[in-house]
Amino acid sequence: MHELSIAQALLDTALTTAAEHGAKRIATIRLRIGGLRQVVEESLRQAFDILSEGSIAEGSVVRIDWVPSVWRCGVCGCVVGAEDAADTCSCGSREFSFEGSDDLVLTSVDLECDDDED
Ligand SMILES: [Zn+2]
Repeated sequence: MHELSIAQALLDTALTTAAEHGAKRIATIRLRIGGLRQVVEESLRQAFDILSEGSIAEGSVVRIDWVPSVWRCGVCGCVVGAEDAADTCSCGSREFSFEGSDDLVLTSVDLECDDDED
């Protein structure tokens, strides 16, 4: 279950960022994950829930932007699904190139700083 170590690394980054800004709570954590990572969303969310418990990230919203893997026709440039790439494109070409992403990044965190308190 590599989602646990992924969640830990991302959470650490989020908590460090929050600490640098003196935040009281992390409202939203936004991630970008490439399809090549083969991350199971449900497992990742569960891991976040478990790891963030008791921290200022507990209960924060985790938003995930998935970057899908696609095959692109080398002639007309259209994008085809993985199951179509074995065949011929509608333009007659059989040249396909694979475009995938193995991104795994924390793109932003929304912090709550509670400046009004006092
Ligand atoms: Zn084509």
